[in-house]
Order: sequence, then C-alpha cells, then structure tokens
Amino acid sequence: MRVGVLALQGDVAEHEAALLSCGVQPVRVHWPQDLDDLDGLVLPGGESTTIGQLAAEYDLIHPLRDFVASGRPVLGTCAGVILLAEDVGRDQPLVGGLDVRVARNAFGRQVQSFEADLDIAEIGPPPFRGVFIRAPIISEVGSQAHALATLDDGTVVAARQGDCIGTTFHPELAGDIRIHQLLFSRAT
Ligand code: GLN
Repeated sequence: MRVGVLALQGDVAEHEAALLSCGVQPVRVHWPQDLDDLDGLVLPGGESTTIGQLAAEYDLIHPLRDFVASGRPVLGTCAGVILLAEDVGRDQPLVGGLDVRVARNAFGRQVQSFEADLDIAEIGPPPFRGVFIRAPIISEVGSQAHALATLDDGTVVAARQGDCIGTTFHPELAGDIRIHQLLFSRAT
C-alpha cells in the first residue's frame, strides 16, 4: 500500500523514513493527481503559512480536503496539524477536517523548543518522546474529535478524529514509529 507525504515544504524525508520503517511505500505529493490511489496521507511539519500558500497555488487545498473527508488515514504533524485544524485564529489557507482549534507558536520562539515524555493510552507504555519545535497547541477539541495526548499540565498536544490524527510534536523525529503505526500499520 502507498501513503502520500505532502512534499511542498518541511520535513518530508523524515516521514518517508518512518513510513518505510512501518513497511509502507511513501509517495511524494506535489500535484492534485498525486493523491490518486493513495491509501493514506501525511502532512509534515514545517511552516504552515508557506505550506498552505503553496498548496493553494498548486490547487491542492480542495483535493486535500476531499482526501481527509474520504476517511482514509491522515497524519498531520506540527505545521500539519495546523493545516488540518478548523480554526487557527488567523487568516491563512487551511485544509481542515480535524475538529480542533489550534494556537500557533504557543510555547514561544524557536529557542523555546523542547522535548517531553508523553503517556498515550492508545499506544501504551513506554512513554512517547514528544519533540516540540516552535510548536502549536490544540487549544480546543471539538465534539467530533478527542484528545490523544496531553502534557502534564493538561495541554492537548495530539487529537484524533476517526483515522485522522494531528500532533503538535514531531513523531517522525522521535525514532519511534508507534504513532505512524496507529494509522498506517493496516496499510502494509
Ligand atoms: N511554527 C510553525 C507554524 O506555525 C510550525 C513548526 C513546525 O512544524 N515544527 O507553522
């Protein structure tokens, strides 16, 4: 089976490596037709305004929206969860489809990036190492979604709606493929 990685900007290669470790064939998505016949999709981290503007320029916003709505597994990490959010409190091109509100750069500047161990019930022990790079937070989880992971203070850092998962951290940088496997192990 084949899983696309939106390859307009951001950490595409790291997701490709994680997918290969899951036994999944990654496919780079640049154009709307690249989405044809994919079994899943990853929206990587990077800079969400840049990715969104490029996606709009390449006429990808509506095809991406349709892909998420199709119910196939979708993982959005960091800038990716920003793109999946229904609302980010500012005007930028969004894909939507994950019923969350997101606040960008919620931990401060790049130098305030950090790592934290996350207990994720749907994955089980041991804790998942969350790598937060100028990360957003999920400020509100809507009725269609549920929180998947929180920091110790209760801040929501991952949410799930069916087979659509958004994380504000970077699982592709953790050397741990359990979040990719949650969605894409069936795609092998
Ligand atoms: N700060 C970026 C944004 O707001 C996201 C950072 C990331 O993807 N690591 O788009």
